[in-house]
Amino acid sequence: MNLILFGPPGSGKGTQSERLVSKYAMTHISTGDALRAAIRNKTDVGIRAQQVMESGELVNDDIVTDLLRDIIRPLREQTASFLFDGYPRTVEQIHRLETLCDEFGLPSPALINLEVPEETLILRLTGRRICSECRATFNIYFSPTRQPGVCDLCAGPLTKRVDDNPETVRERLRVYHEQSFPVLDHYRELGQLYSIDATGSTEEVSQKIAKVIEENY
Ligand code: AMP
Repeated sequence: MNLILFGPPGSGKGTQSERLVSKYAMTHISTGDALRAAIRNKTDVGIRAQQVMESGELVNDDIVTDLLRDIIRPLREQTASFLFDGYPRTVEQIHRLETLCDEFGLPSPALINLEVPEETLILRLTGRRICSECRATFNIYFSPTRQPGVCDLCAGPLTKRVDDNPETVRERLRVYHEQSFPVLDHYRELGQLYSIDATGSTEEVSQKIAKVIEENY
């Protein structure tokens, strides 16, 4: 079983991916995480992607697809199921993913779409805080730390993702509507689209995802 976890920025793809991976022994691939790692490590890809990501735009299809191929290649042998988080994000990337699946002998993935209203997305993104030491995630509106700016788990300092400022968030949502939303049509036509109301608690949403998986796979 291969799955795409899809949804606008702030819909909870990263959080739900962590749960799915432990529940179903899937290998999680987040192109956003991979790009952020490339930026931290100052690789060629990171240097080319940094400015684009900070502005809220999408990184070029060639760059992201090459990165994805490089991630899949060493994992393919020992992995039965991949969970794609944040890819495909354009209609062109759907075709690129199909080519990659052929190349690596992977079944075509189904898509689980996390639906969240825009007002909630804005609060989730602009309120998100991440521990710079243990990477735990909090939110000043929905899940604040006991002491502002300090991680509840390890007492490390909290930081914000550079693209979580209000202006970039607006741009990321605009880009999502314009370039990513049309991806859904393709999976709808294939009968491989499963949409979920993702406004509830992490546990509620993860139960809805589990239901889709268990009823269909
Ligand atoms: P995410 O962590 O998934 O929210 O991604 C953060 C940023 O990484 C996005 O706003 C894009 O700039 C870039 N990015 C991640 N995945 C892709 C992709 N599949 N195609 C293009 N850009 C991407």
